[in-house]
Amino acid sequence: MKNGVSKKSNGLMAGMAALAVAGALETSAHSADILIAMGIAKANIQAAARDPRVEVDPGWRIVINNVSRAFDRAKFLEATPGFTWEQCDEKQRVLAYVFRGGTEVYICPLQSKQGNDHMAQTLIHESTHVSGNYDECKTTEVELSITTLAGKQPYRNGYVKRCGFDGRFDFRGDSADWGVDAQPSGKAPSDWGVEQKPR
Ligand SMILES: [Zn+2]
Repeated sequence: MKNGVSKKSNGLMAGMAALAVAGALETSAHSADILIAMGIAKANIQAAARDPRVEVDPGWRIVINNVSRAFDRAKFLEATPGFTWEQCDEKQRVLAYVFRGGTEVYICPLQSKQGNDHMAQTLIHESTHVSGNYDECKTTEVELSITTLAGKQPYRNGYVKRCGFDGRFDFRGDSADWGVDAQPSGKAPSDWGVEQKPR
């Protein structure tokens, strides 16, 4: 909150009301970051959908359309202590996660420190999972492709290297013939958006 209410100057406010207001301000302050990242992610998805290389590629048209619809129905939530917090393992550099079959995307504190474009790319990754794709390499290819097609330089998530996307990523047409299939829901966490920092 850049120009928020001073925490020290509300002594005259009734106790409960002051607490409620402070809580609301904190919540909206964090949601603003998520909303900005959502706007960037949506714009990136739309830009990718309009790219001529996608328009002539039926497989990629389907994938990006599915991701776009999944993005629209996803709920992007801040993971907080006591609220699925235990999945946000900073040693494993967990940025965000979804549960298989779910539409709720939990955003970890580590992600909140990475900036808006970075979060936007993560939201695209998680939206790809929400669309029913739980293969991390295919999901990473979607995430890198949409970000690249939108003219941005993607960050390298924890799956980039092991999935063979070394060097500068280029969009690969004709590779999305795998489509996406909805998966049954379950309780186990299925996604670990792990970022590998360069060594
Ligand atoms: Zn993932």
